[in-house]
Amino acid sequence: VFITFEGVEGAGKTTVLDLLYEKMIQEGYKNLLRTREPGGIEIAEQIRNIILNPSHTKMDGRTEALLYAAARRQHLVEKVIPALEEGKIVLCDRFVDSSLAYQGYARGLGIDEVWLINQFAIQNRMPDLTLFLDLPPERGLERITNNGDREQNRLDLEALSFHKKVYEAYMMLMEQFPERIKRVNADQPVEQVVEDCYQALSDKVRK
Ligand code: C5P
Ligand code: MG
Repeated sequence: VFITFEGVEGAGKTTVLDLLYEKMIQEGYKNLLRTREPGGIEIAEQIRNIILNPSHTKMDGRTEALLYAAARRQHLVEKVIPALEEGKIVLCDRFVDSSLAYQGYARGLGIDEVWLINQFAIQNRMPDLTLFLDLPPERGLERITNNGDREQNRLDLEALSFHKKVYEAYMMLMEQFPERIKRVNADQPVEQVVEDCYQALSDKVRK
């Protein structure tokens, strides 16, 4: 079962995934794989470093979108698909919806065009379930700015208007794929967010 996690910056994906993973292990789930995008394997982590390198100010938007898609492709074939074939539950921090929201909508490349290159990359391998950690973009930005131990390249990375667009895109995607994308309220104590995620995925997964 392939489960992805999405949300604006500061929504708490990483923290929630850490805790959710722990909880699932405690509850007796075996065969879990926790991973992230862009990255998760060496080639894709290297691509991530290229994309997120703050000195690469000249990076063209389409180049960026292609690099995300390339990292996604390699991560998918090298790590995600083999795990799914072994019957694992894959919990992945970000997937194609991030590209549709960030590059397609917020960066203005067009959701349809970004979808095209991603179709090439993923060959119809879509998540069985996507949990959207819903935090208003203003709150997300507050959280990042108050969190000193974030990677340097993420500090102040994007302005609020950009975050708002990303959020708006996720809202559109939720409307477009109501069966696949489930909303989880991320504006509550983290334990509760984890509990809600756990409930949301419990009918998709088996121990
Ligand atoms: O998931 P995480 O928060 O670690 O993402 C790292 C950075 O990559 C973030 O700053 C996010 O805004 C950016 N990103 C992006 N487009 C994507 C995925 C991530 O701009 N498709
Ligand atoms: Mg994160």
